[in-house]
Amino acid sequence: MTQLALREFHVFDAAGGRFLYLVPSAGIFQIDEPSSAIVDLLDRGPCAPEKIVHDLSEQYPEDRLRNGLLELQQIRAIGEAGAPQEQVVNDLPPDGFPITTMVLNVTNKCNLACTYCYEYGEDKIVDTTCSDQPKFMADDTAQEGVELLLKESGPLEVAHLTFFGGETLLNFPVLQDTVAYGRQRAEELGKKIEFSLTTNATLLRPDIIEWLAENEIGVTVSIDGPKEMQDRMRVFHSGKGSYETVQPKIKELLKRHKTRPIGARVTLTRENLDIHRIYEHLTDEMGFWEVGFAPVTTASGRDYEIENEGYERMLRQFDELAHDWLEHAVQNKHHGFSNVKDTLEEIHKGVSKAYPCGAGLGLMGVSTGGDVALCHRFAASDDHNFGTTEDGIDRDRQRQFLEDHHVKHKTDCHTCWARPICAGGCYHEAHTRFGETTAPNLHFCNWVRTWTHTCLEVYGELSARNPDYLTRFDH
Ligand code: SF4
Ligand code: SF4
Repeated sequence: MTQLALREFHVFDAAGGRFLYLVPSAGIFQIDEPSSAIVDLLDRGPCAPEKIVHDLSEQYPEDRLRNGLLELQQIRAIGEAGAPQEQVVNDLPPDGFPITTMVLNVTNKCNLACTYCYEYGEDKIVDTTCSDQPKFMADDTAQEGVELLLKESGPLEVAHLTFFGGETLLNFPVLQDTVAYGRQRAEELGKKIEFSLTTNATLLRPDIIEWLAENEIGVTVSIDGPKEMQDRMRVFHSGKGSYETVQPKIKELLKRHKTRPIGARVTLTRENLDIHRIYEHLTDEMGFWEVGFAPVTTASGRDYEIENEGYERMLRQFDELAHDWLEHAVQNKHHGFSNVKDTLEEIHKGVSKAYPCGAGLGLMGVSTGGDVALCHRFAASDDHNFGTTEDGIDRDRQRQFLEDHHVKHKTDCHTCWARPICAGGCYHEAHTRFGETTAPNLHFCNWVRTWTHTCLEVYGELSARNPDYLTRFDH
């Protein structure tokens, strides 16, 4: 007789109901009480359908139990015992997959010396001080980057170009020329380029701010919080903290630049984990539209590395902020905690990733000398090179990369319910921690699963209390 068993899903409760997050389809399904009882019963082991109905018939009408069994089989939450586990989609993206985003590292110089910096700090991949890469990207190289993006974005009407560094604004003349060139070339081709940049804000001046606003450049400011937090790691080469320098400039930027929402990006370290205080300072006191937090990328053993207790503290505060975000969203109000918004968008879109991020897929980084790399963090690394702005993208090399990095090879992730969202995590983190981009970031699993669970709960609550809000994630 057929025995039924549970298949792969993650259960979460929200808004007084029970939901299943189905792996690997990444669908979300709310179940009623009889279905919930079936799931609980099968959690104890495989069972024949007739026995399930019989065992639960005192609690629920038979027709509801049979409906529940049918529905759970249709959504593949349960199935024949012993059937092979479904794995992630095995397909590689089609040949010539469009590049949506190009990140130009317009300089590898920086006027700050942040202790944890992945470019200059202890865990750097490329020693830019002795490489043959120029310190500043030339106009020609940036324009080749624009041409490459326009060509490789294929049928897409909108492509994205991001300026990165070092400190991006050290090469302001090239930014100006590239934006003007890119706009003109895109128009000639009937396309559009959206520009953005990341800066440490030390070099913002009134004319630069004016230019950013007029040209609708998206701006992300790297900042760690109020003075005592910012000055701990984000220091000038002299060791002097940068808060006093950046604070008035950021205020001016936020006052004048209203054409794009401006975000802050915070690096969390062992000593910098008062997330509520940082969030409050950057939004209420400084006026950023949104704030994204990322734990520092570091090899094991650095004294700023976040350890277990730190992760717990971080998760607790993320959870609290996520629930604050929820209460705002229920009332259609803005809340600037971007981590929750980004994950909710992926959940809503039913994203089931074969790769953790766009690096090497729809996103590429370009070094100051014009080498095309996996992403901005690998720019100028010969081992992670995909061609040049002049010769174009080496699609064979890209294909090999995608073959080698598909989540199907990350066997540790095959039984993990969070893999549709995580897919093994950032390649740069893996490279820094384990020396290879193919490794899954197993030191992060607990954090990833707990955070994804929180976001699922928030998603379930919001879908019950203000479902219209979720439609803004449809685009
Ligand atoms: S790295 Fe960990 S959390 Fe991420 S998919 Fe793999 S097993 Fe899951
Ligand atoms: S590899 Fe890491 S740093 Fe690079 S784009 Fe992906 S998530 Fe970002």
